[in-house]
Amino acid sequence: MAFDDGCPDGPVLVVGSVAYDSVRTPFGERTEALGGSASYASVSASFFAPVRLVAVVGEDFAPSHVERLGQRDIDLAGLQRAPGKTFRWSCYYEYDLSQAHTTATELNVFESFRPELPSNHRDTPYIFLSNIDPTLQLSVLDQMRHPKLVVCDTMNFWIENAREKLLEVLARCDVALMNDAEARQLCEEPNLIAAGRKLLNMGPGTVIIKKGEHGAVMMSHDSYFTAPGYPLEEIRDPTGAGDTFAGGLVGYLARCGKADEETLRRAVITGSVMASFTVEDFSLNRLFNLSHEEVAERYREIMAMTRFGGL
Ligand code: AMP
Repeated sequence: MAFDDGCPDGPVLVVGSVAYDSVRTPFGERTEALGGSASYASVSASFFAPVRLVAVVGEDFAPSHVERLGQRDIDLAGLQRAPGKTFRWSCYYEYDLSQAHTTATELNVFESFRPELPSNHRDTPYIFLSNIDPTLQLSVLDQMRHPKLVVCDTMNFWIENAREKLLEVLARCDVALMNDAEARQLCEEPNLIAAGRKLLNMGPGTVIIKKGEHGAVMMSHDSYFTAPGYPLEEIRDPTGAGDTFAGGLVGYLARCGKADEETLRRAVITGSVMASFTVEDFSLNRLFNLSHEEVAERYREIMAMTRFGGL
């Protein structure tokens, strides 16, 4: 399995947050570190296909962070700088790392951000609407000409504060991603399989429910796939795992140029592999120091781990 051979089918457009995160886990703490759903997703996707990032940062956003993102195959023409402060998010995790306890969400420059896509961005075939205000996700979708594939993600904050708009996004996307708690909350349904079914009825042809260290399940109306999480013994910071998963998934689909069941399954494993690296360190540190060989090796390990014979 080589991820770096051949040509991608097209670039991936990622819209979402670029943030300064303050995070405390039982294994350490970081203040105002580079984060945001779009940062994790873009860097992850850039392992497989060129990326176009659409987001806004404030005057306080460090040039070194722009430079860091620009060192990947990420087009930053859609990264606007606006007067005010960059989006900030603070949270802590207890020993149960699957639960992020948000202590502050400061939208700052995102409050008045209305993305105006550069003209060449409007033809991007693969779109990832990462976690951000659903109104912004819709405004990006409205500007796209004929996307081949639209993938979306969200979180509890938007389920609670922008439910109706979020339902509109779901109705217009091909693949919906959510973590288990969010799927239960949005569908008001404790059983995950039943929640997945309800999500499918809201519009997307495929639903992927992420289960933190326990992997992910993917459902469509006529298929079901379950992927394990990579068995890591040391997790330092789970922040960004979901976004990294999604970036890997969309980037892989863009590289393959198709989204049939087989390719989607490989994309889910690729997403799991990418996420397993992100959680090994704080912020995007591990992603910035990751090679294609390491990704391919972990992918092969998961293949070996899940092989079993027939009856
Ligand atoms: P996750 O993959 O769910 O761990 O996502 C964590 C990232 O989401 C962090 O880097 C945050 O900056 C970002 N984030 C947290 N809350 C929000 C929000 N309400 N809207 C957009 N991004 C957010």
